[in-house]
Amino acid sequence: MNTGNTVLNNLRQLQDRISRTCERIGRPVDEVRLLLATKTVSPEKIRIALETGHTLIGENKIQELRDKFEELLSLPHENHFIGHLQSNKVKDLLKYDVSCIHSIDNFSIAETINNRLLPSGKTMDILVQVNTSGETSKFGIAPGLAPSLVERLSTLSQLRVKGLMTIGLFGNIDEKTRQNFQLLRQTRDTINALSIPGVVLTELSMGMSGDLEIAIEEGATIIRVGTAIFGERQYPDSYYWNENTPGNITTE
Ligand SMILES: *Cc1c(COP(=O)(O)O)cnc(C)c1O
Repeated sequence: MNTGNTVLNNLRQLQDRISRTCERIGRPVDEVRLLLATKTVSPEKIRIALETGHTLIGENKIQELRDKFEELLSLPHENHFIGHLQSNKVKDLLKYDVSCIHSIDNFSIAETINNRLLPSGKTMDILVQVNTSGETSKFGIAPGLAPSLVERLSTLSQLRVKGLMTIGLFGNIDEKTRQNFQLLRQTRDTINALSIPGVVLTELSMGMSGDLEIAIEEGATIIRVGTAIFGERQYPDSYYWNENTPGNITTE
């Protein structure tokens, strides 16, 4: 089967998984947005997916955002950034028309982005990445510290905190994964109950190829899916999720 057909078939099956889950629990299917997690995926493959009307893309690396930007310009789509962000890359990130960053987990990086946006008056949507699994291999702020971080972020004039993001437990998908997602939802509810001026968190970015059903059951509004659409990747995910992992491949 050629690549195009594979991507299209995968998307169809994924669509089925999403709608079956929504139906089963009585959630309107349009409450769940599909973000195409496109790390390592070629622009040609991404185009195939975009042409089906799924127009939300998430990259993990500025370099990949840059490399694919031109080739995807002619197709309508929206760029989110879902990878770990370093302050020396913020300037580059802002060149590529990113509308939302899912991975804010400290005030300093947010302040850097805010300061860069100030002269143009532009604003940026952000999500706070929460480490709900307690794994040290993952980025994200501890759940208990998320409310005070959101409170501080709300003072930055160019940023709009829209919700929370998490990556579920690695490996076995089980009740622990569900607990991670529940914790994210509870953390969102806790923050909303604080009635921080200007802050209403509506987005829960959680769920990937292996655990999207559980995420949808627990209230995901954005699921981030790569493998189930584009196939297996050649790099281990640790390359994208933790730059300190031994054996990481460094390309920048
Ligand atoms: C790669 C990635 C995904 C998608 O993972 P799959 O298991 O391939 O669906 C989702 N979120 C983030 C942050 C990722 O880096």
